[in-house]
Amino acid sequence: MTDTLVYNADVVSPDGVRRGYVAVDADGFISRVAAGDPEPQLIASARCAVDAGGALLMPGAIDCHVHFREPGLTRKATIASESRAAVAGGVTSFIDMPNTVPQTVSRAAVEDKMNIARAGSVANYAFFIGATNDNFNELMSADYSRVAGIKLFMGSSTGNMLVDSSSALERLFEAAPAIISVHAEDEATIRAARAEIEAEYGQDAPVALHTRLRPAEACYRASKRAVELARRYGTRLHIAHLTTAMELDLLDRDCQLEDKLITSEVSPHHLLWTADDYGRLGARIKMNPSVKSAADREALRRAVADGLVDLVATDHAPHLLSEKQGTLFNAVSGAPMVQFSLPTMLELFAPDRVAAVMADNPARLFRIDRRGRLAPGYYADMVLVDRVADGYTVSDSDVLSLCGWTPIDGMTLHHRVRSVWVNGKLACAEGVILNEQRGMPLAFANKK
Ligand SMILES: [Zn+2]
Repeated sequence: MTDTLVYNADVVSPDGVRRGYVAVDADGFISRVAAGDPEPQLIASARCAVDAGGALLMPGAIDCHVHFREPGLTRKATIASESRAAVAGGVTSFIDMPNTVPQTVSRAAVEDKMNIARAGSVANYAFFIGATNDNFNELMSADYSRVAGIKLFMGSSTGNMLVDSSSALERLFEAAPAIISVHAEDEATIRAARAEIEAEYGQDAPVALHTRLRPAEACYRASKRAVELARRYGTRLHIAHLTTAMELDLLDRDCQLEDKLITSEVSPHHLLWTADDYGRLGARIKMNPSVKSAADREALRRAVADGLVDLVATDHAPHLLSEKQGTLFNAVSGAPMVQFSLPTMLELFAPDRVAAVMADNPARLFRIDRRGRLAPGYYADMVLVDRVADGYTVSDSDVLSLCGWTPIDGMTLHHRVRSVWVNGKLACAEGVILNEQRGMPLAFANKK
């Protein structure tokens, strides 16, 4: 029995786009994907038949790098608020990072977050457990069929979850029972840059110096160190929010995603902006790692287009606009993006490429059970996207995130999310969230 049928759609897969239809059964799984028009009796018998009118039908995006700020930082965001922003933007699953308060560095803290998400998330959800200098046993005993992997901060970032003990790092890479996602920025390089800037400007240094404070070399040094450790111990390593052309040389090339030891993601910020944009956007594009040069941005765009970089993830990191004021040293780093990642990436890349880097590849990389593509037997996480020929302009007033602003305020986009299904149920229509829907925990096929 067909529950939902979406037909007359440009159905997007990593292999291409073809006009056809997708049928969903009453249990929320895709039962059929086919080219052309469905038989009239299929349209007549479906509980809900949607004529897409030629719009793009894409797999729901899986954002494997978000900071939804709960517990502890709920003045900035909550899992409920940000999961709504995610779904409105076509992101049907998310994996949240551990720098909350308290930090997610124990199995008990992971369970607390799972409970918060079960009650309030409209998207499907999972969490990383964070590594510290002294939580080795927690990392070893976590259940990686439910936990996405281990987040490691090599270099300072928000939350001070820095692993700087060399023996703790070696031990972690040697024994890691799951993929390690690394935030790689070398602390010593940043400290040296900070001393130089303070000598020159005192405490009044402008935000525009953020890329000088956190330069390309800091990223390269830490990523190189992490890759060396991963290759020495045969550890699966994922470089989060890669920002420089130099780091691309560290990646595995010319092999299937499943065969890679080293994988990577790029965030929309670093594909959209460069250090030349601080003058216009100021602290709205102050984030860690920093935006880099135009040459870096060009290299990253090419690497996403040709498959060298495996996925796009937002590093959605909402702060109140009031916290983004002031100088280099007191405007906080991080920006929201989850609501607009899909339409902004459709500005830069073909729909089949976007489906690969935002849905299929994240699912394959993290070994997520039956998600990431429109195929029979998969969960029906689907997004219907209208092409808007004349474009429309995004403004802060469109933002569903609790913080109420977006760095793409004023940007013109040419794709708009019309409808979103999560687990086969309509979760968002024309930008309106249907609040009674709840997501599911993601399941992972991680081997110990
Ligand atoms: Zn992050």
